[in-house]
Amino acid sequence: MTKTTIGIFGGGQLGRMMAQAALPLNIQCIFFEASLDCPSAALGKIISAKSDDALNKFIESADVFSLEFENTPLTDVDILTQKKNLYPPRQALAIAQNRLLEKALFDELNIPVAAYRAVDSLLSLEQAVNDLDLPIVLKTATGGYDGKGQFVLHEKNQIEQAWAELGPAKSLIAESFVKFSREVSIIAVRGQDGEIRTWDLAENHHHHGILSHSIIPAPNSQALQPVAEDYVTRLLNHLNYVGVLTLELFVTEQGLYANEMAPRVHNSGHWSIEGAICSQFENHIRAVAGLPLGSTETLKPTVMVNIIGQHPNCAEVLALTGAHLHLYNKTERCGRKLGHITLMPNQQEQLSDLCRKLAVILPNPLALTSDMCID
Ligand code: AMP
Repeated sequence: MTKTTIGIFGGGQLGRMMAQAALPLNIQCIFFEASLDCPSAALGKIISAKSDDALNKFIESADVFSLEFENTPLTDVDILTQKKNLYPPRQALAIAQNRLLEKALFDELNIPVAAYRAVDSLLSLEQAVNDLDLPIVLKTATGGYDGKGQFVLHEKNQIEQAWAELGPAKSLIAESFVKFSREVSIIAVRGQDGEIRTWDLAENHHHHGILSHSIIPAPNSQALQPVAEDYVTRLLNHLNYVGVLTLELFVTEQGLYANEMAPRVHNSGHWSIEGAICSQFENHIRAVAGLPLGSTETLKPTVMVNIIGQHPNCAEVLALTGAHLHLYNKTERCGRKLGHITLMPNQQEQLSDLCRKLAVILPNPLALTSDMCID
């Protein structure tokens, strides 16, 4: 078999874990990234996005391309796709980079979403507040992540403040506030032959807008799983997608509402490295390389806990039976994802015990404490 090289836009932890999954398949990854000292550097060559003629060098250096950074510039993608294939397709990326396009696509495919309005002036914000019941969530249409670029309006008298904060972004979306009980995500992969596989729903818990931990399978979600699978399948087929796609959803009394999609492997799928027969990373690599997909079946109930801001004592984590530690080679910084721990005990009833033990060890036990609901 000839050796395939996959070029990846971005060199963060997602690229690192993609390359880890690629290695046993004898697939090499090469990364287009500004920082030579990025988490992917240990796993493959970095082409400095800052160097002269970098994009052309990158394009020449690989057979097929993918990304781990969803804000990959479309201008770069356009140059690339004149010569080589990129998976996922450009259209999926363009839509995922703009919340207004994303919501319009969900509407077109009859995937329920919160009522929303486009906002580009103080006047249109006032109109949106009149049209949608308060509270509303005002978001920048592009560039936001982990809850950044958002303002929750509870009162009409906050309109000017919200506009002062987010107005400079020029293109905004105002969404009705969804009264959800839980947040879940469905991760799916589509191969070059159109085959689709989905992993079990993850139940996601956030702290200050950052994912703190995910529980898999999402508890009490048997009825939600086929609905989520149907929604993500509509997206994958419509976009003629290849690779892994993630759909984030709100669970409400009226059913599932789509929040956003990520055209890439996702933090709520890290559990699948140990918890599923084939991980999101390996299946993404397989899809991009045009190989058959692997089974997405869950091996055991799993909790994935993010290491945020500060490293734990690694020996203490590893002393927990059933704990798998993944570090991303990043320096400590408040709010930064430094690694994750997958808890996969031998017996299901030990999972909540294991979580409690881990919460004691974590330097920052914001994960896994207040909102722990594993049983
Ligand atoms: P996002 O950047 O769209 O993923 O939003 C970050 C977080 O804000 C989500 O995980 C939700 O907890 C919350 N959020 C976003 N949109 C809404 C909404 N329309 N209604 C209620 N909460 C929301």
